[in-house]
Amino acid sequence: MLYDSVQIVPVRKPTNLLAMDWDDMRAWISTLGWPPYRAKQILCWLYQKRVTHISDMTNLSLSDRSRLQAMATITRATNVTIRQATDGTKKFLLELADGLEVESVLIPEGDRLTLCVSTQVGCTLDCDFCLTGKMGLKRNLKAHEIVNQVLTVQDHIPLKSRLTSLVFMGMGEPLANMEELSDAINRLTNADWGVGMSPRRMTVSTAGLASRFKEVAPLQVNLAISLNATTNVQRDALMPAINKLHPLSQLLKACREYPLQIGRRLTFEYVLLAGVNDSIADAKRFPKLLDGIRCKINLIPFNEFHGSAYTRPSDRVIEQFQMVLRQAGFDVFIRKSRGRDVLGACGQLGDLQL
Ligand code: SAH
Repeated sequence: MLYDSVQIVPVRKPTNLLAMDWDDMRAWISTLGWPPYRAKQILCWLYQKRVTHISDMTNLSLSDRSRLQAMATITRATNVTIRQATDGTKKFLLELADGLEVESVLIPEGDRLTLCVSTQVGCTLDCDFCLTGKMGLKRNLKAHEIVNQVLTVQDHIPLKSRLTSLVFMGMGEPLANMEELSDAINRLTNADWGVGMSPRRMTVSTAGLASRFKEVAPLQVNLAISLNATTNVQRDALMPAINKLHPLSQLLKACREYPLQIGRRLTFEYVLLAGVNDSIADAKRFPKLLDGIRCKINLIPFNEFHGSAYTRPSDRVIEQFQMVLRQAGFDVFIRKSRGRDVLGACGQLGDLQL
């Protein structure tokens, strides 16, 4: 028979070193019979020296490197496409191992370089003004796929510049993928073997998944809450899924109870939609709503996308809204729209056909 002599040899998929956290790496190293310090050596190569080839791990002997190469890989995104907007913002499209794509947006501003990172492909929430919500949830990202966005983008910026802040405000609802998010933040903040960025320079933005706030606090990152409405009825219309889960009053109660460290404050984001939530009456509801919460406010004029029923208010209306809030004693900033011509601005991530 034709196939009689064919031997079936099981093919083991090589281990992706980036998919392992500290504990995984320690356990794996010990199964290889290597000393525990080798775990830290390898992780430092991955996150601090950012090598992409095992052969570059020069404090491992040549034979250890070839043993490692036989079993493992350093698998980053398979394909990276970069679209540069006229304002210097760059949208990175990263192809994942299963062919799905994820987006990260690099935003240079003066001497600051901010990366907006995604935590899910798509999103479970259905916020009416957000393009990502329209695609539904494809899947959660793994911790290494979140960290990979940072490593890959860092490889594309000049050696002398570095990322100054990370915002978890890309595709998805970060707190709906809490376990992988915490793991990613640990790898990014650990100074011993991880990337070593300060959690103070990181902001996690949530549509209002209040039940997870207690898991965010120990990470010591900044927390931004997308308020977007000043009455429960209005929030139900704009953000139905999340507001059903945690209605406005419950969300604000969780914000009041959030254990803020000394000198830090929450951020409230507020998407301004013309004729919907941009009236003086809306602005005048803020003081009572946010009473007793140490916070600042970021106004985000709506970024338009194809098929959306909403429009952006005029500059005059935006400034007036800001003025009313300022007069009420709030620190209020208007978030400049960046990268709109490559659909890289807030709420525009997900249109991958561009
Ligand atoms: N799911 C998280 C993070 C992603 S959205 C959250 O809701 O916070 C990041 C920010 O962009 C949120 O404040 C959201 O309200 C805002 N946003 C969404 N769509 C937008 C759009 N089309 N224009 C302007 N801001 C938008």
